[in-house]
Amino acid sequence: MAKKTVSGQPSDPPLAEGAGARELEGYPGASLRVGPGGKVMAANAKGFGLQALLERESVPDLGLLIARALREGSIAAGLITLQGTQGDVVLEVAVVPEAEGKPEAVVLARDLTMERNLRSALVESRQRYKDLVEISSDFSWETDEAGRFAFVSPKGALGYRADELVGRAAADFVTNPEDFSPIPFMSPRELDNIEIYVRRKDGAAACVLLSVRPMSDANGVWRGARGVCRDLTEERERESVLARVRQREQLLGYIVGNIRDEVDPSNMLTAAATATGRALGATGSRIYRRGSDKRIKIGAYYGGEAPDGLDEVVAAHVGDQGVETIKLGDVSVLIAPTLYRGEVNGAVTMWRPAERGGWDDDHRLLLNDVANQLGIANEQITNHERVVMLALTDGMTGLLNRRAFFEEELPRRFTRLQRNKQPAAMFYIDMDNFKKVNDVHGHQKGDEAIMALRDLMREYSRPGDEIARLGGDEFAMWLDNIAPEVAVKRAETLIKASERLRKFSGMPEYPLGISLGVALYDPATGEPLEHLLARSDEAMYAIKRAGKGGYRVAPPAKPADMTTPSGTSEAAPEPKPH
Ligand code: GH3
Ligand code: MG
Repeated sequence: MAKKTVSGQPSDPPLAEGAGARELEGYPGASLRVGPGGKVMAANAKGFGLQALLERESVPDLGLLIARALREGSIAAGLITLQGTQGDVVLEVAVVPEAEGKPEAVVLARDLTMERNLRSALVESRQRYKDLVEISSDFSWETDEAGRFAFVSPKGALGYRADELVGRAAADFVTNPEDFSPIPFMSPRELDNIEIYVRRKDGAAACVLLSVRPMSDANGVWRGARGVCRDLTEERERESVLARVRQREQLLGYIVGNIRDEVDPSNMLTAAATATGRALGATGSRIYRRGSDKRIKIGAYYGGEAPDGLDEVVAAHVGDQGVETIKLGDVSVLIAPTLYRGEVNGAVTMWRPAERGGWDDDHRLLLNDVANQLGIANEQITNHERVVMLALTDGMTGLLNRRAFFEEELPRRFTRLQRNKQPAAMFYIDMDNFKKVNDVHGHQKGDEAIMALRDLMREYSRPGDEIARLGGDEFAMWLDNIAPEVAVKRAETLIKASERLRKFSGMPEYPLGISLGVALYDPATGEPLEHLLARSDEAMYAIKRAGKGGYRVAPPAKPADMTTPSGTSEAAPEPKPH
């Protein structure tokens, strides 16, 4: 390095000052020439600040570097940090000693602050991205031009670790790659929020929301893509759970609406079976209920034939086990007990072919809800049944009462009889000398005598016959589809059997027995019911008048009697005065 002393020109302000300053000018940073003891001899323009600091001895590290270079005659270099008003200033300093052992050196200082700041900003920004990528529930990825994962965010994705994905073809994970050209993981265009289905490690499909940016090299040639995927599976599942709950509520609303719209309690069950069967996609449904007689009976049907053995299964399962699925043959049956105040009062069943996939949790939950409603409906129906029974039967004997017999039972049977052109017989019975039983032995004994006659009549009737207590000691028996001679034989038998009543008699001369009037119905005559009843009544009085204790067959209906007498609105003969 040549030594030159340049003095400044007035017209050209000096760039550097001091002895040997000239060669310092070419250096882009701060530069000083120092002499023995580190004294500054010259400085370029950028070096003035450093010179001032050095002279004030406020940069001891620089003084040490200079001293070392002068002492050892070799370049001393290092980083020096100065505290500036806007943060630290970092200088890379080299102290180059003069050749030939001259006690001088050139100090070259380069400001690294900006580079250092840039680098640390870069490091920080990389760290920020890294942190964000790592904590994100999404996963980011990069593919190469062959469509293989070149990078996957460290947490991995779809149940795979990152290293299990790197190197593998992205297309292998798309459930329906044939639907894309190319697959979004290799998109040459930007894509935002595309929904695609990918296969997870456990084999399940996952719905992901995908955004992609293509990558190209300096020549604009596509080199792969990078992007982010958000796994929507959980969100989707939550949505579908909500949707299912909403759907169940709607179905239940529909079913309950159908039940409520029915005023007649027995239609309620049919409406429920139909609505539930439809809502659940069943091929058939049956609702069972415990009747007022405590027996489990079928309350309503819907759809096709029930699978064999269903009734038995229901009878065995009417506990409080909750909803159950049972296979009967190739049919899958869903059974739910119905409860009222914690007691099982029936069951609701649905079935369909097992090949249709049986029943899932939604079906079970819905049927359980329906069963809760039906528990109330079943209770109401049984209560109603009880009320109806009370209204139709005689409390003491349990036989049909007068109203039920004449206004409901007989008209129904009579219509069927007329349609089928079948014969029938009406027995009208009144106890003989019954008052004496009461008078002599008391009412209690009288009641026992009434019960004894009821038993007798039950014993001598067939399953299709109907018995009623018309009031007091008056009874009736209707014999369906019976030939005239058989009916007369039955009357005879009954009179004979009534001797059993004799033991209740108040006095031997007033024996307890029965008087029986018989009216035979011949379908060929077309006789109205009222007329038939009147004939049996008359026949009974005829035997009473003739001395009691026997039967009389009423004279057959005459064609002149074949019309209902005008003004007779009563279906039944008047009870006789007691
Ligand atoms: P008849 O031979 O002419 O038929 O006369 P009867 O003694 O049988 O008397 P009637 O048929 O005229 O009257 C029936 C009596 O039965 C009148 C009533 O005091 C009595 N009675 C009606 N209901 C009951 C009942 O539930 N229990 C008892 N113990 N007696 C009854
Ligand atoms: Mg009597």
